[in-house]
Amino acid sequence: MKQYEIISHSLEETKSLAKTLATYLKPGDVLTLEGDLGAGKTTFTKGLAEGLGITKTVNSPTFTIIKEYHGNLPLYHMDVYRLEDTFEDLGFDEYFEGDGVTVVEWAHLIEEQLPDNRLEIQIFHQGQDVRKIVFTPLSERFEQICEEIFS
Ligand code: ADP
Ligand code: MG
Repeated sequence: MKQYEIISHSLEETKSLAKTLATYLKPGDVLTLEGDLGAGKTTFTKGLAEGLGITKTVNSPTFTIIKEYHGNLPLYHMDVYRLEDTFEDLGFDEYFEGDGVTVVEWAHLIEEQLPDNRLEIQIFHQGQDVRKIVFTPLSERFEQICEEIFS
């Protein structure tokens, strides 16, 4: 499958990429975020939130698995890191198929519950402030969006 790569040199650049992506999103869209601790998953989510017109500050949901924010569209921010060995199903489908955009940090931990039509985003540390960001669109629509963003 096709992949799209970009190098980010600062947290602002990462947020700005996410903000651009946000302008293309619609209800029922699911984005997954993978990357080590401190890679920038939550930073990316902050940019998405800004792009969706959310004014409330987005934080890492440490003790909550799912947080909801309301902007032009609802944003469901999941961090499933703590589900590591429980395999809980918290009714994720209702979010994935809901009226907002869902973004999932550490998504591989709930791989089986993820919808097929999603946009996978991987963030790799390249240096202090440098990250490689890789988009893998798993639907035609997300591929078109990537073509527009990366052209
Ligand atoms: P994660 O959610 O993946 O654990 P966070 O977004 O919470 O990561 O933290 C990323 C950290 O890396 C932040 O402190 C951020 O300021 C810093 N950072 C430095 N450069 C970048 C970059 N290019 N993109 C994203 N974050 C960056
Ligand atoms: Mg995080």
